[in-house]
Amino acid sequence: MKPVIALVGRPNVGKSTLFNRLTRSRDALVADLPGLTRDRHYGEGRIGERPFLVIDTGGFEPVAKEGIMHEMAKQTKQAVAEADAVVFLVDGRQGMTPHDKTITDFLRKAGRPVLLVVNKAEGMKYTSVTADFYELGLGDPYVISAAHGDGVPDLVNEVLDQIEAQKPAEIEAEPAPARGIKIAIVGRPNVGKSTLVNTLLGEERVIAFDMPGTTRDSIEIPFERDGKHYTLIDTAGIRRRGKVFEAIEKFSVVKTLQSISEANVVLLLLDAQQDISEQDAHIAGFILESGRALVVGINKWDGLTSDKRDAIKIDIERKLHFLFFAKFHFISALNNSGIGPLMKSIDSAYAAAMAKLTTPRLTRALIEAVEHQQPRRKGSIRPKMRYAHQGGQNPPIIVIHGNALDAIDDNYKRYLEKHFRETFSLTGTPLRIELRSGK
Ligand code: GDP
Ligand code: GDP
Repeated sequence: MKPVIALVGRPNVGKSTLFNRLTRSRDALVADLPGLTRDRHYGEGRIGERPFLVIDTGGFEPVAKEGIMHEMAKQTKQAVAEADAVVFLVDGRQGMTPHDKTITDFLRKAGRPVLLVVNKAEGMKYTSVTADFYELGLGDPYVISAAHGDGVPDLVNEVLDQIEAQKPAEIEAEPAPARGIKIAIVGRPNVGKSTLVNTLLGEERVIAFDMPGTTRDSIEIPFERDGKHYTLIDTAGIRRRGKVFEAIEKFSVVKTLQSISEANVVLLLLDAQQDISEQDAHIAGFILESGRALVVGINKWDGLTSDKRDAIKIDIERKLHFLFFAKFHFISALNNSGIGPLMKSIDSAYAAAMAKLTTPRLTRALIEAVEHQQPRRKGSIRPKMRYAHQGGQNPPIIVIHGNALDAIDDNYKRYLEKHFRETFSLTGTPLRIELRSGK
């Protein structure tokens, strides 16, 4: 499970600046996709080989004074409850404020490691910028500049070290390796996730039962369908919900993100009997950002008039256009209909994500594409593409080599992507095209 870091602090101390710095590497993949809504309060980051999730607790409008504290307390509580450690930001230029003390009092009760971090400290002396904050009683402050990056890698490594150090030894035991494709079923509450899980597990022979969860309840449930092995990642506890835990389990972005990151293929469930909501789009955005293979199930397809069916198709096309690379299936988890083809798409999405594309085949496909349609000149410059090789898997990365490739526009890049997708049947996985110019 990825460690979870919450960024806490009053408005304007630099939480979103730090958040953006920590999660920025992910943006390249999704930068130019129209229609994508991303919840910028949750993101994934990586420092060296160490991945983590980060939650920004900002983003509320400071209206009335009481309103601020109330809203801050609510958001902060939720985030801190889901986090393994807290980065508590204060503003080194402004110095200490009463709000900082209120937050400190709250954090003291939260039972999580708290790192006090003085931001905006670029060009300032450690002793002068930190002096104010010893009064908070949180020990030696760390000093960073979120805007410039100073001190940020050290801070993150320190947080991750502290999280690792507090893990009890007994949960270190690795679970048995999963068999088959690892599937995470994600979606907002009530779309039918538990119903689908029960349909998948109940009907076919369940090979093993729940393993006791770790602290954060990541459960892998192996199952078999049509003679093939799969493993369901149930981080969000969807299997048990609907029984005892119904009342207390709430939708958790963190658990959704954890499930996505542990899966090979994500199955996004939507509810055909409701409009596509902002929450659906947010979850879809997370999946896209993760680079995972994806299949979409539009559930509760039973009992809909054909007008309703047309309307939901239009709604999806409009709001989730950025998932164009995935297969969509109209299913009924309740009636067990449409599940067979859905599982076939899961198989092929996985195969596409893991595809091995040789340099000769890629180069041939590239030449075909260029023969069919040349990239446009930019002024007097004509980009020249020479060959392509595979730069990575899951998602596949196709690296194109040549000269003056800076001059290739996004339209042409999309054209190439489409051509590679068709040539190699890469349905169900994001695909990245990278251009590398020789000189
Ligand atoms: P948030 O409300 O806590 O999310 O704060 P923001 O990230 O929106 O930052 C508030 C303001 O502080 C913005 O104008 C940022 O540009 C500025 N800021 C953030 N980090 C730094 C920093 O390291 N140094 C300086 N000088 N300004 C910063
Ligand atoms: P979850 O919160 O995503 O796990 O959703 P549940 O599996 O608990 O389902 C929410 C509600 O939708 C329940 O009342 C289910 O009986 C109902 N439901 C689930 N799948 C279907 C379906 O395919 N068709 C219909 N009509 N209802 C369904």
